Amino acid sequence: MPETTVIKKQYDALVIGGGIAGGEAALNLANMGFSVVLVEKDLSLGGKMIHLSKVFPTLDCAACITTPKVSETARHPNIKIYTYSEVKNIKKQSDKLFTATVFKKPRYVNEDICTGCEDCENACPVIVEDQYQHDLVGRKAVYIPFSIANPRVANIDMDNCILCGACEKACLAEAIDFTQVIQEIPIEFKAVIVATGYDMFDPKKLPNYGFEQNKNVVTAIQMERQLVPTRPFNSVLRPKDGKMPNNIAYVLCAGSRDETVGNPICSQICCMYSIKQAQLIMGALPMADVTIYYLHIRAFGKGFNEFYQQARSMGVDFVKGKVAKITEKENGNLIVRFEDVYKGKVKEAEHDLVVLSTGILANKGIVELFPGLNLETDPFNYVKQVKELENPSQTSIPGVFVAGTASGPMDIPDSILSAGAASSETASYIRRLS
Ligand SMILES: Cc1cc2nc3c(=O)[nH]c(=O)nc-3n(C[C@H](O)[C@H](O)[C@H](O)COP(=O)(O)OP(=O)(O)OC[C@H]3O[C@@H](n4cnc5c(N)ncnc54)[C@H](O)[C@@H]3O)c2cc1C
Ligand code: SF4
Ligand code: SF4
Repeated sequence: MPETTVIKKQYDALVIGGGIAGGEAALNLANMGFSVVLVEKDLSLGGKMIHLSKVFPTLDCAACITTPKVSETARHPNIKIYTYSEVKNIKKQSDKLFTATVFKKPRYVNEDICTGCEDCENACPVIVEDQYQHDLVGRKAVYIPFSIANPRVANIDMDNCILCGACEKACLAEAIDFTQVIQEIPIEFKAVIVATGYDMFDPKKLPNYGFEQNKNVVTAIQMERQLVPTRPFNSVLRPKDGKMPNNIAYVLCAGSRDETVGNPICSQICCMYSIKQAQLIMGALPMADVTIYYLHIRAFGKGFNEFYQQARSMGVDFVKGKVAKITEKENGNLIVRFEDVYKGKVKEAEHDLVVLSTGILANKGIVELFPGLNLETDPFNYVKQVKELENPSQTSIPGVFVAGTASGPMDIPDSILSAGAASSETASYIRRLS
């Protein structure tokens, strides 16, 4: 039976999602003196950005920007954080007040006393695929999510735990607690910021590219993990045989601008993250050739075109062409069949690793958090900005605002700007209530 906390906790604002947009919005409100409750469904704050290598177009280290913000958010006296939690049943009690319930899932580890020492991890005999390294390596059944996780606290994955008790014996802090259950925490608040981010397009929906059957076809997010300082291997390696690749291809618009897979819009980030990764690969593997197959290069932001030209001058080969099919040879190399648009010919080229620059999709299911309140979405399932030009953070529900990629594809600087807009609109809304 769930443990129920009876005291209703009251806050000025609820922020849903602890990525860069949600964290920024919560910090802005907290710094203005408002009390904020931030609910993050994952084990750590930081969203997708905390897992990135460097950021375009400056090549600044992503973790160096994310981790100070995340720790400032986590330590702020005006912010209460629930990680590994979900908020449900957001309802209006009156024009001025919302109510909801936070469901805090059990980690089977006491967060207040776990020191993050990893002794439990070392003792655990169970190894499964590590979702934070996109299945490139393994992790234990009890695990610290990733090295820069916040909070840096262990979690037991009960689906794979064999209840051997080795972690409990190894933990000197006595933090392992198999008796934990879901906690239900009722909360009240005056306004909401939805900052629930995006989902990745599933490359299995592109059967011609053979993701999974062709072992040396990877996604850009898997490549991103191979380029971060906390990478699983000490170099970029092909998954099939651990060989260092010499000739890498990128396939842009994999699952974006494609009606046939149900995602007709541009994901706005894939051109630039691919150009970024191509430059990082040239640093990691100085002898490697990199080819980018593209339809159009959309380098529209500040400094983006210069960044694109920099990749060209470093020797990245840009081929304007639609990739039709990828097949794997016996030696693991891949034959890429494509239409060379400038030459008007169908051609084939051999590469030893192919990266799919997969697009992004709306995080569905947000509407259900607001039963009876009609949170409207746009035709692509992103949260609808009802006054896109005059007040881009406003949604169809008075008092509910949207920040970051929850409202559509955007990069990190635009997500931070959008969080700034959402937090100032939220602040003036709350002030107008009193
Ligand atoms: C391979 C790759 C490389 C990239 N490289 C760059 C780059 O170099 N530069 C750049 O500017 N951008 C880059 N991006 C884009 C960048 O990731 C996004 O712009 C940014 O992460 C958006 O932040 P966000 O907070 O809106 O969303 P997210 O990072 O998706 O954060 C949303 C958060 O909300 C949480 N959440 C979701 N649903 C719920 C719920 N129901 N309840 C509670 N919590 C919830 C999620 O767990 C997550 O923590 C890259 C993207 C990819 C895929
Ligand atoms: S649960 Fe115990 S052993 Fe595991 S990281 Fe926390 S303090 Fe260390
Ligand atoms: S009890 Fe579970 S988590 Fe702990 S060591 Fe055994 S298998 Fe691992």
